[in-house]
Amino acid sequence: MRCDASRRTIALTIAALFLSLSALRAQDLEARRAVLVISVDGLRPDALSPERTPAIWNLYLEGASTLEARSLEPHYTIPNHASIFSGLVPQTHGFLELSDPGDKILDGSLFEHAHAAGLRTALYIGKDRLRFLNKPGTLDRYVLSTSGTSDELVEQLLEDFGVEPFDVVGLHFAEPDTAGHSHKWMSPEYLDAVAKVDQLMAQLLDGLSALPVSERLFVILTADHGGFASGHGGTSREEKTIPWIAWGSGARSAHRIESDVATYDTFATAIWALGLDMPPGTEGLAVSEAFAEAPVYVLPGDFAPDGVINLSDPIALLSYLFVGAGAECVRAGDLDRDSNVTVSDGIYLLDFLFRDGPPPPHPFPTCAPTSTYGETCIAPCREARPRMPFPEEDEENEEHEEHPPVADVAPDDRFGEPAEPHHAQ
Ligand SMILES: [Zn+2]
Repeated sequence: MRCDASRRTIALTIAALFLSLSALRAQDLEARRAVLVISVDGLRPDALSPERTPAIWNLYLEGASTLEARSLEPHYTIPNHASIFSGLVPQTHGFLELSDPGDKILDGSLFEHAHAAGLRTALYIGKDRLRFLNKPGTLDRYVLSTSGTSDELVEQLLEDFGVEPFDVVGLHFAEPDTAGHSHKWMSPEYLDAVAKVDQLMAQLLDGLSALPVSERLFVILTADHGGFASGHGGTSREEKTIPWIAWGSGARSAHRIESDVATYDTFATAIWALGLDMPPGTEGLAVSEAFAEAPVYVLPGDFAPDGVINLSDPIALLSYLFVGAGAECVRAGDLDRDSNVTVSDGIYLLDFLFRDGPPPPHPFPTCAPTSTYGETCIAPCREARPRMPFPEEDEENEEHEEHPPVADVAPDDRFGEPAEPHHAQ
């Protein structure tokens, strides 16, 4: 709200007073969660059990989870990994390939958004074909398994975290898909591969639990697709049904998720868990059921939360910085999006109010979701973002489709050959 000249004088006087203080208090935002997204290639939920996969089963029981989540059509590795990490349906992100997508690179990934927000990002993968997630300048660490097995990925991740943890991590286990193509889904060999992933999960969680990062770790474990016989790509229940488990810091405990969840919701859920602004155009939805506390919405710039931007906001912000006044939602004051609330944010607000400066950032004048982690934000205005139509498939025509001819199938997808020996930073 623009104010009159006398209020402008008051505001500028106050600003000058605060600016005259020599010691600037740059207030870091509360510590964020660290988000670990684990995709188990080709994992069918009915392969999980307390006996075969005790570590994953424990996450399932302790966390917010469903064994009825869905892959998106086409039910292949590349389209669904692009959805997991972009929040878009395959028809939107355009990665529809069954085989290697060549030089194509995914824009707007979880890693790109997190990296732009100043977070540290890492990706550990078991298939070279997923290198389309490695957009230059968006990953602080990129590791492709040189042996085609996941053991070295887990070992490397733990070693890296022992030095300095990342804020956003993708971890991909390739083995179940490989075994499914070679020996059929649900064969003894496939179930052994799932059990091996579980042992690695136990090793990973055990290793992470010894580190301070464990207190702020939010884990999502899911899959890209299921499988039937020796393939996937059809629209049968076995091919499209996947597990989806959220566990750890801020995740709801022992909750069975009832809402629809699909691969592209993982991106939105991770963005929410990190307290980042939801990128415009995101098609998946954060799985709000997965959180212990429903995320709240706040108007960017509304530091003294009352639903409008007025003089009370820069006053509250500067009082917070310089005289130790409390704040109900610190993140609402990060107007220049540098992950800090500093005097420059107060000046930004004063410029907007009194000197026709730029407005608060997106999505002003509507509200932004803000992390509940470490902050108690009140929510004077809320908005419910409607879900994009959940992709519906013709349930009556579910079938195990004929899979593409061998020539169209990448060797490591069909026969489980290990990825090219290659190790990239
Ligand atoms: Zn496959």
